[in-house]
Formats: sequence, structure tokens, C-alpha cells
Amino acid sequence: MAPSKPPHLKPRTLAAQALGWEEHETHAVVTPIHVATTFIRDPDNQYRNGFIYGRPDNQTVRQCEALLTQLEEGAEAMLLGSGMSAATAVVMALPTGAHIVAPTVMYWALRNWLMNDATAYGYRTTFVDTSDLQAVKAAIEPGKTRLVWLETPSNPLWTVSDIAAIADAAHAGGAIVAVDSTVATPVFTRPLTLGADIVMHAATKYLNGHSDVVAGALVTRETNELWARIRRVRSMHGQILGPFEAFLLMRGMRTLHVRVEAQAKAALGLAERLKGHPLVAEVLYPGLTSHPQHAVARRQMTGGFSGMMSIRVKAGETAAVSTAARVALWKRATSLGGVESLIEHRASIEGAGSPCPTDLLRLSVGLEDADDLYEDIDRALRGAND
Ligand SMILES: *Cc1c(COP(=O)(O)O)cnc(C)c1O
Repeated sequence: MAPSKPPHLKPRTLAAQALGWEEHETHAVVTPIHVATTFIRDPDNQYRNGFIYGRPDNQTVRQCEALLTQLEEGAEAMLLGSGMSAATAVVMALPTGAHIVAPTVMYWALRNWLMNDATAYGYRTTFVDTSDLQAVKAAIEPGKTRLVWLETPSNPLWTVSDIAAIADAAHAGGAIVAVDSTVATPVFTRPLTLGADIVMHAATKYLNGHSDVVAGALVTRETNELWARIRRVRSMHGQILGPFEAFLLMRGMRTLHVRVEAQAKAALGLAERLKGHPLVAEVLYPGLTSHPQHAVARRQMTGGFSGMMSIRVKAGETAAVSTAARVALWKRATSLGGVESLIEHRASIEGAGSPCPTDLLRLSVGLEDADDLYEDIDRALRGAND
């Protein structure tokens, strides 16, 4: 049963109740998983229920999309098979030959795809430091640039880009702005309200939050021609999220606010303690006043600065790798945003050509006790520097 949303409800309430959907046959408080791939036509050959086939659409996916639309204050959302699937669908919906502006330091797989694969489809990307508004303006080629891609805070230096200022510049040049808001989550930033046209999430990360689903999401500010083309890409390329994954994602999103607020609070505390650590050269976290874009982060982010940070180990790469080898509580793994804390020597996974400093460790702060987390990393740092 489609819910009628009272307008005054807070996002946290909408998420906790999964928008208040109620299944009419049993009045279950949890929506069933719709697995049907095909739907019965009306006797007069119409499809009045709006469902025809499982590749373009699915009810469990739609319910999860409806919640995300509310959280991002957008017009419509789409769930896809992964974050990469969501990001590449935006690019593939652009006309061939389109020029793209993207951050120099960003999620490595997407940078890699833009550099090495998107070119085969005729897309050309200029990489700039998107925390520098003048650099973004200079990179926009009026009439040719169709997309300015942002990621804020961005992997793995947690650089913050000014969405509102860049949206103005992009729109003046005839381009749209899409924001990878995976790390900020709709709890801390709503890019569409700041002028962005599309928000993208690796829902694999904080939206799901339990390291057990690979999923991607897009939310649009308006249902325009580009959005219709992205929907067509998802349908024609078969990129829709599966119903089981959508169900798990919905379950994860119901606790989004409590999770990320606790993670951001723990991350800030940890960042402050590690900043004073004798074996740490630098802590990269937008919540610290020492962060180069702290002022923009304060303006743009509400209620927290995320659970992601990086530290640079004073003694260099060997000590950084050795620190990661010595943790007992943090899990030595890639990915982020789950309930368990992860540590990663980022340059190792990004490989040759990565702009990531080799002395950097990326930390995804989970929901464990903050003192336990600090003590474990402190012990590992001291062991690695012995
Ligand atoms: C993980 C991640 C992606 C890619 O998401 P997948 O679900 O792994 O395809 C994109 N952007 C950011 C910021 C990420 O952390």
C-alpha cells in the first residue's frame, strides 16, 4: 500500500519506518520481497498496474528508491547493481563526444574507467583539483562540457568540494553536476538542495552499512530528458538491482541515521587523538580545523563529517604497511561504511599511477567502542615503529 507521507516527518523517521509501507494482505510491518520477473496483462491487453517485466522495474527496488528520494530531497531515484554501475550509467547517457570534468583524486576505479575505458565510447575527461573553484571554471569548455563530476569528501584524502559554487559555474557553462555522495550520505549533505543535478551513491557502503550488499543509487533533482536516458541505459544494459539486494539495502537504510551519526562522532574523536600521536605525520579529516577545506565542510555538511579519515605515518610506507599488518581489532580490508572498522594501505590497492601517498592508511570507522579502536591502532603504530 503506497504510504501517504505526512509532510512534517523528519528523514530519520521516514527511514526508520521505511516510509511506512504496509502490505495489505497481512498488515506486515516489513515489506515482502517481490521476486516476479513477469506480470499478468489485463484482459483488454493493458498493463494498468505499471509492471511489465523485471529488467526495467521491480516493486522491492521501487520501495527502496522511494525512501532514498525522500532522504535526498529529489524527484526520483534509481537503484543499480553497484556504485560503478550507477556512475557509468550517468556517463553512458551523455551524447558521444561529451567532455567531462572530474576530480584528480577520486574513487580510483571510476577515475580508471574514465581514463582508460570511457574514451572508447568517445567521452573525454579533464581531471582537476575540484576543491579549487577557479581550476574547475578553467576546465569547463562551454558547449562541450556536459558533466562536472564531484566526489565530496573524496577518496582517500577527504578533499571537500564546494557543490553550490561549482553548480553555478557548471550551469553557466551548460553542464550538469553529479555528486558521488557515498561518504557524506544524505544525513550529512543533500547535494540536490545545493544545486547539484544528480546524486550518486555506492550504496554498498553507508546506505547499506553492513558489508553484505553491492549496490548503486542515483537520485535526480528533476525527471528530465537525461534522467530518461539514464533509465533507458539501466533497462537496456540490465543494470537494475536485484530484489533481495534491494530488500537488504532497505533494511540497512532503516538504521542509517543512528549508524552514521555514531560513526562520525567516533571518527572525530579518533581524528583528534591521532592528530596528537607522535608517530602520525598528518590526519586527513574534514572535521578537523586543520583540514584545508574545513570551512566549506562546515557550511556544506550538517551534523557530522563522516566516518572516513586517513592518517599519514611519519616513518613512511614500510611503517604504514607494517601498522596495517599489526592491528588486531581493525579489519585489514578495502571498502568502507560498514559496522566493522576497516584499515587499508590505499596505495597498494590503487596500484601504479595512483596519486595516493604511499605512507597513507585509510580508516573506515565502524560502531565498535572508540577507546578499543584507538588503543588497537596506537599499539600497531608503536609496534611498526619499534
Ligand atoms: C565503493 C565506491 C564506489 C564504487 O561502488 P561499488 O559499489 O564498489 O561499485 C564509488 N564511489 C565511492 C566513493 C566508493 O567508495
